[in-house]
Amino acid sequence: MDIITVKDKSFKPYISEEELQTSVEKVASKINDDYKDSAPIFLGILNGSFMFFGDLLKSIDLECTVSFVKLASYEGTNSTGEVNQLIGLNEDISGKDIILVEDIVDTGNTLVKLHEILSKKNAKSIKIATLLYKPAAYKKDHPIDYVGLEIPNAFVLGYGLDYDGLGRNLSSIYVLND
Ligand code: 5GP
Repeated sequence: MDIITVKDKSFKPYISEEELQTSVEKVASKINDDYKDSAPIFLGILNGSFMFFGDLLKSIDLECTVSFVKLASYEGTNSTGEVNQLIGLNEDISGKDIILVEDIVDTGNTLVKLHEILSKKNAKSIKIATLLYKPAAYKKDHPIDYVGLEIPNAFVLGYGLDYDGLGRNLSSIYVLND
């Protein structure tokens, strides 16, 4: 693998397809063990999780359903702050075990907002699975239940993760070369 250029930045190879696959299988195997007696709903967080989600689900041997959601923010009309809205959740999740599937957990803001919104919908349980986790950037106390790989606080690209909309289709992960 070589150094690549995306827009104005250069990225170098960081996590190979083989290493990604090993991490994905590790996560899948833990989930398979933990949810033997349940039929969980896997909720993929768009856009970044789509590749991880696809590979993860291929290694899940549970009875399960899958769905995708997106966290959108807009300016509230009456308030000063940003309001977060969950788009795409059409099914009733009450009484169900939910596994949120994220591409990467950085500060943890996204994860905590998603959890806040979903916990009002009476799910039986909500757990988080993420491919990548940056412990040095994480600012929350919320537990992250399944982690593929821990990485340092650097900007990564590929396997679903983008730089300005580009690079999501790369089959392995690159890191900013600075
Ligand atoms: P958090 O809310 O945890 O700070 O960030 C979550 C989101 O920020 C991720 O879902 C992802 O879209 C984006 N993000 C955080 N770190 C990176 C990174 O290193 N590379 C890319 N491409 N996106 C990132």
